[in-house]
Amino acid sequence: MQKIAFSRSLVIYEDFIAAIGEAKTIFITAHVGPDGDTLGSMLGFKFALEKACPHIQRVDCVISGKMPDAYRFLPGIKEVLRMETATTLLPQYDMAISVDCGSPDRLGLARPLFEGAKISVNIDHHISNDRFGKLNIVETTAAASAEVAFDILKTMKIPMDANIATCLYTGIVTDTGGFKYSNTTAKVMETTAALISAGANPEYIFKQLYEEQPLSQVMLQADALRQTQFNPEYTIGWAVVTRELLNQHNALDEHIDGLVESIRRVDTVLIAVVFKETESGITKVSIRSDTHDIDVSAVMAQFGGGGHKMAAGCTMEMSITEAPKALLPLLEEKVRQKLLVS
Ligand code: 5GP
Ligand code: MN
Repeated sequence: MQKIAFSRSLVIYEDFIAAIGEAKTIFITAHVGPDGDTLGSMLGFKFALEKACPHIQRVDCVISGKMPDAYRFLPGIKEVLRMETATTLLPQYDMAISVDCGSPDRLGLARPLFEGAKISVNIDHHISNDRFGKLNIVETTAAASAEVAFDILKTMKIPMDANIATCLYTGIVTDTGGFKYSNTTAKVMETTAALISAGANPEYIFKQLYEEQPLSQVMLQADALRQTQFNPEYTIGWAVVTRELLNQHNALDEHIDGLVESIRRVDTVLIAVVFKETESGITKVSIRSDTHDIDVSAVMAQFGGGGHKMAAGCTMEMSITEAPKALLPLLEEKVRQKLLVS
């Protein structure tokens, strides 16, 4: 399976490499609410292209919204621009690359620059990816977009260095849940070994990502976990994070990261959900499945979201009190179907 996907991509890699040869100005964008994979892939590409392609005059990395603090250790992170405040962006780029974005709405404010580029390239690994680029390198068998980035850079014969390796390692370690999830293949481990050989430091990266959380994050999560609700069978667990709860803890939106996995940890839980009230008063959903038989990405697609089978999300255009009422019955049905067949 993986072999077929890989050989199919090689052809597309060649198109990408040819297009890079023509591009002097490159714009790379991550998805809104950036995570380790989207940021690591973006910066890995930036370092590699700047190092190996002297004809490229500039590579601008841009996100929409605020940069989460947890990734401040990534090399090059300080040069990442924000769409809201950037003043030096070009009106049009020769090439725009999106990394780890499953759909164009995930590009946020960067969407017009992505779509307006002479060539747009969609590099991703989400099963729900809707191939919105002119060129689409979508490897749904890859654990992380960073793994796809590694394969592309290898095909381009760009040697790894410590900066590229640190960025790509971060993408892989975050999207595999620290090498715990089913996407942790032998190929992931081979890629990871090459990244460590090139200078990625697993202990340092893990500590930065997971062992240096602010008190407000740890306490917000403790509180939200205590308030987690369950259906009578304890197969679905959900936490509701209001602005009020965030404010009580002086916590930021990004401090919710990891909570949904804590709920899934309960042995009876098949689906874990976190509902977060956004600043604009609607609801962001983070969802995890505990079994390969329940595809939560498909449920999220009904609300315009997506992701992976066992980890997905969406934004529901309704209040934090209405959103659980709309979503939970659908999840009950998913669990009922799963229990019927097993
Ligand atoms: P998280 O819950 O960690 O934010 O996201 C889990 C997975 O779902 C990630 O792969 C992420 O890209 C995807 N995801 C989260 N929110 C959305 C969304 O609103 N739309 C889409 N298409 N994917 C999402
Ligand atoms: Mn990813």
